[in-house]
Amino acid sequence: MLVKFLPEEVRAKISAGEVIESPSDCVKELIENSLDASANRIEVEIIKGGKRYILVKDDGVGIHPEDLPRVILPFSTSKIERFEDLMSLRSYGFRGEGLHTISRVSRMLISSRFFNQETGYEMKVEEGKVVYVRERGMPVGTKVEVFDLFYNLPVRRNFLKKEDTERTRIIQLVKSYALVRPEVSFRLMSDGKEIMNLPSVKDPKERVEDIYNTRFEELLLERDGIKVRAFLSVSQKRGEIRLFINSRPVQNRELLEYIKRVVGNRRIGICFLEMPQYMLDVNVHPKKWDVRLMQVGKVKELISESIKRKAYLPSLSQEKGHYSAEPELVGIIESTIIVAKWMDSLYFIDQHLLEERINYEKGLSSERACKSAIKAGEKLSTAQANKLLKEWTKLSNPHTCPHGRPMHYRIPLKEVYKQIGREL
Ligand code: ADP
Ligand code: MG
Repeated sequence: MLVKFLPEEVRAKISAGEVIESPSDCVKELIENSLDASANRIEVEIIKGGKRYILVKDDGVGIHPEDLPRVILPFSTSKIERFEDLMSLRSYGFRGEGLHTISRVSRMLISSRFFNQETGYEMKVEEGKVVYVRERGMPVGTKVEVFDLFYNLPVRRNFLKKEDTERTRIIQLVKSYALVRPEVSFRLMSDGKEIMNLPSVKDPKERVEDIYNTRFEELLLERDGIKVRAFLSVSQKRGEIRLFINSRPVQNRELLEYIKRVVGNRRIGICFLEMPQYMLDVNVHPKKWDVRLMQVGKVKELISESIKRKAYLPSLSQEKGHYSAEPELVGIIESTIIVAKWMDSLYFIDQHLLEERINYEKGLSSERACKSAIKAGEKLSTAQANKLLKEWTKLSNPHTCPHGRPMHYRIPLKEVYKQIGREL
């Protein structure tokens, strides 16, 4: 048996709370269940902002037929057994109350085929009670349908936000999980219209760019067990900041405000933090939207450093206004590093990364940009090197390759003069 009941002392330690207050809360619980079930593909469908109908379908491991009636019982979960498990939690769900709560305030159909079973089963649930379970042919995976949320709680139903508001929330929610799980394909339908259809991709950057339809810079920094991976939009657009901690979308006001300040108002900033589980407590909020961090100061420092590391670099195009001279090729070291003098500095530029960036800004995907770029160790002619240098100064980001690696190292000439004891 996979589903177990949590012992009383564990139940008491899990902060109770209303998990389901809206259709988007439902969608969140269901998507998290699908991800916990190792789904590669998740399809979400809503009608009337989810008030009328919600469907979340996945191709995950499925629910064992014997477990099917148990999943809607309170505190039934296959994810933790002991209180200590809460400390080392990697799954999205763990309280065992998502399906239970939804089932009590809606009509539900849960259909599932467990991965080692020949057939699937469909279970109808009303007000928390099983109406029937019957056999049903279906592929491996799980499909949960929620009809008429809060039909039995008219006051709550009246308090639901407008259809449009709920729809927008659900779109944002699906976006969040799509951002953090690029290897999973997501599709969202609303009132019969396709809103999102994202293929599975390997590179998180590709997913970010697919979703926002604009170019992003990638920043990486890791220290003391904390890892920051952030994506910043290149173009100046309407701002949007998103924060994820250990693959969980979170709304930690303090950090969000902080990131906004560092990044500026008019950028899209997607920030993924990874840290050891003991540094956080995800159990402070019933919907797990917020987490408590043990070392906020350190995290902030790391975030600002990773962002500033990019920002403090002078923008080549800005400097162009002052000096019209073109970069002067000094030479090429080991058929890999182009050395150029430009304005008041000496630049050591990686030939592969440079051409990769040029290809990328011409519109190739990061993968194709890389493949078609000259390799390190391949011989460039002087003419070719000069051409690359010329294009370099026109790049919108002349500092990093599409994956976020710095493509050059700069030494101010002043520094060279100083080191050899000569005034410039
Ligand atoms: P929790 O996610 O906290 O464990 P839920 O009430 O959301 O609690 O789900 C109860 C259990 O039902 C899960 O622990 C899991 O075993 C099973 N389950 C729910 N949704 C799915 C799904 N999409 N695929 C496979 N198993 C599922
Ligand atoms: Mg759950």
